[in-house]
Amino acid sequence: MPGTSHRPVAERWLRVRRTGNLLNGSTALGLLACRAGRARRRPGPRGLILAEGYRLRFPRPGAFTVGNVVLTASDFESLQRGNGELLDHEDAHAWQWFYCGGLPFLPLYAVASAWSWLRRGDVASGNWFERGAGLARGSYLEAPVSNAGFRLLLRRAQTLIEKPSRLAERSF
Ligand SMILES: [Zn+2]
Repeated sequence: MPGTSHRPVAERWLRVRRTGNLLNGSTALGLLACRAGRARRRPGPRGLILAEGYRLRFPRPGAFTVGNVVLTASDFESLQRGNGELLDHEDAHAWQWFYCGGLPFLPLYAVASAWSWLRRGDVASGNWFERGAGLARGSYLEAPVSNAGFRLLLRRAQTLIEKPSRLAERSF
């Protein structure tokens, strides 16, 4: 078959990933989220499990991936009509779960989201997991580095410092 000589290797690595994410518990967590959100599940490409009609409110981006399970409140056919590369983006997240050894992905992702918010004012565009998976492929816009979050925190801190002194002035 022309053009498919890379397939055996790719499929072997996909098997490694599927087994890894089974053993590290992340796919189990994804299936748990699927059940909690009463999503319908079906086999997807590259050893992924597609779960559609997820009903919980959190988390609710267009789609999100836990282990080898890709979940959405919508369905993948309509999502892919809007963004043909969405599953490539989610597939990269499945690799990230694998590289992180499963559940450590969660705190690392939280730190990356916080860093992104501090630097760019949103939780995705400076998040190295989202950047690694491809911002455009995940339908994210890239915000410039503005230290928006840092500046907001600084303003809050200043208000906190100034308020007690204003109250103190008033009482004299
Ligand atoms: Zn993503």
